[in-house]
Amino acid sequence: MKPAAARGLLLSSLCLALCCRGGARGSPTRLRVYHWRGGVGSWLSTSHWFIRVCDLGAPWVTLLSCHLPPEHGFEERQKIDNHEWKKLIMVHHWPVTVCKEVEKDCRDPPDYWTIHGLWPDRAEECNGSWPFNFEEIKDLLPEMKMYWPDVIHPLNHSHFWKHEWEKHGTCAAQLDALNSQKKYFGGSLGLYEKLELNSILQKLGIKPSINYYQISDIKDALASMYGVVPKVQCLPPKQGEEVQTIGQIELCFTKDLRLRNCTEPGELGESGRAWGPGLEVCEDGPAFYPPPPQSAR
Ligand code: 5GP
Repeated sequence: MKPAAARGLLLSSLCLALCCRGGARGSPTRLRVYHWRGGVGSWLSTSHWFIRVCDLGAPWVTLLSCHLPPEHGFEERQKIDNHEWKKLIMVHHWPVTVCKEVEKDCRDPPDYWTIHGLWPDRAEECNGSWPFNFEEIKDLLPEMKMYWPDVIHPLNHSHFWKHEWEKHGTCAAQLDALNSQKKYFGGSLGLYEKLELNSILQKLGIKPSINYYQISDIKDALASMYGVVPKVQCLPPKQGEEVQTIGQIELCFTKDLRLRNCTEPGELGESGRAWGPGLEVCEDGPAFYPPPPQSAR
């Protein structure tokens, strides 16, 4: 074997081993970010250095291994590509935290949990030739503006709705109950109303506060009310902050729209998969549930 080929083979094996090791540990996003940064950036961090090695010596290995979400096996990956999914996630977000996440000084964010989306797990953008059509949901406009507002762009909600339809709605539409835009948005509003998260939190005495909550208390209280395991997502503490900030509460449904646990014992999913740029599954421990700006004064 020529020395160059032997070197390539050696680097390939090293790279493959590293990629797989990264996968076993968890975050696919992190791995891909490392890869990208490694391509243009610093040589200083060890992880970046290894990925540079992959780029130099074995681009085909990077292609084959590093770009597959590593927590999924081959069969799982095929399901994602085939747009197969098994649960629906009703994602509520706390507008104050949304504004904090994007570092936007929102003027008057709603002081109640609003809808981020109704998301099938493991499937996105299932039908690029089914465009969003505002006309179809015109009748729902008052409820949409109230409960599913674009928190970041409150003067133009329809961009956000278009995004949610194209990314998530086209996949949810595999269900007869959600197989039109009217049914998808109307059905999501129906589930949101049925869940009554805002009044349930109030009943539980969980209100925005300058005092911190324990995440396990919130999760346990919600689980006892709904009878299923929810998922709570937080913004990790920024520099100078003591604790994480609560951002999203997810409740999950079966395909026949019955509540189910968001994660089953042994199921992947508590590994910190981030839905937004900064959101992660909350760490056990204290968390800030930030009051809206005016009542914080
Ligand atoms: P997804 O793309 O899966 O629906 O949700 C994640 C993205 O939605 C993140 O980029 C997050 O910043 C964004 N996002 C969250 N809430 C809002 C919102 O109220 N309006 C808009 N325009 N984007 C949002």
